[in-house]
Amino acid sequence: MTIDLEALYIDLHQHPELSFQETRTAGIAAQHLRDLGLEVEEGVGVTGVVGVLRNPSSGSGESGDGPVVWIRADMDALPVEEQTGLTYASTAKGVDPAGTTVPVMHACGHDMHVTAMIGAVEKLVAERADWSGTVVVLIQPAEEYGAGARAMLDAGVLDRYPKPDIVLGQHVTPLPAGIIGVRGGTQMAASDGLTVTLHGRGGHGSRPHATIDPVVMAAATVMRLQTITSREIDPQGVAVVTVGSIHAGLKNNIIPAEAKLELSLRYPDEDAREKVLASVERIVRAEAAASGAEREPEIRTDHTLPATINDEEATARVTAALQRVLGEASVIDPGMFTGSEDVSWFARDAGVPLVFWFWGGADPAKFAAANAAGRVAEDIPTNHSPYFAPEIHPTIEVGVTALSTAAREFLG
Ligand SMILES: [Zn+2]
Ligand SMILES: [Zn+2]
Repeated sequence: MTIDLEALYIDLHQHPELSFQETRTAGIAAQHLRDLGLEVEEGVGVTGVVGVLRNPSSGSGESGDGPVVWIRADMDALPVEEQTGLTYASTAKGVDPAGTTVPVMHACGHDMHVTAMIGAVEKLVAERADWSGTVVVLIQPAEEYGAGARAMLDAGVLDRYPKPDIVLGQHVTPLPAGIIGVRGGTQMAASDGLTVTLHGRGGHGSRPHATIDPVVMAAATVMRLQTITSREIDPQGVAVVTVGSIHAGLKNNIIPAEAKLELSLRYPDEDAREKVLASVERIVRAEAAASGAEREPEIRTDHTLPATINDEEATARVTAALQRVLGEASVIDPGMFTGSEDVSWFARDAGVPLVFWFWGGADPAKFAAANAAGRVAEDIPTNHSPYFAPEIHPTIEVGVTALSTAAREFLG
């Protein structure tokens, strides 16, 4: 019996769950893996699922589990109100960590990742006479917090399951459906999320001279931070400094006592990371001093993600394998993405190679038209957009083929 992957995708899409709350999704994924004959454990790193598919060589004398391939999918959704207008659009709500009720949508396509994973495992099970080794399936929570991989590692996945020889994963993107984007070396940026608290001295809005205004301090800081990428980073290099959140004050005639900024920083390597972090700290402290702040600002790191670096040799093998199956023109080098991922913690902690690729979900005709008009950025919704909606077909099929083909490349 074959699994109805379209029905699975639509069901997951209509029931998105926020990070570390993916209990329904995890339960469905675990049940499919059990039905396919895997040993399955749930609740690994809060809501994570691990499935083990052992397929030792049928020949006698083979010792151990053979090559061990870890394949990983993430499963959390985002606090975004879906605007796609699709018949199966999400109307789900969730409660975020602050206790606020928010709309929830699979705006990053992790529902597609789980669907393709189940399809790939089904294919590997069906083809088990043709390969040997062990596949460990990781269905990871809370990628959007950059915390789910770490939670699963802290739960002991490296000690409790066969150790990987390689870690593989994939992410759906607005490339045209049918296209795979993969490159050796840095595939995605490293990133840090910071919260900066600027301290002023509050008072009456009519008496600014008796206060130290953190709103002005915050405004000057935000503007000066923009000069890191425009004036300090080599134009040949890449870095992103985004202030995604700014909060101060409650009322027009009160000068508040503090302002909070939330920063998202991205860079391709450790050198750039150190430079940007040092620049942020220098500017934040200098702007506070320039405002006459009586208390030093606080800079807190909320999360830190390493660069997603694909092993050159393993990536060349995956690229060749995917080109054989999908056609040479279907596999492209998409360049480095400034987005970040926590998938590489699995490979880094295990000390083994990683290959992580992108696969397209955009309507190829719409993408071609947008490309011809020079309007890809405007017309093709990206991950995290309320309009992000991968084409169901052939995106599922290509995701299944890509993941199973890449896994087979490293199995006996
Ligand atoms: Zn995302
Ligand atoms: Zn994602």
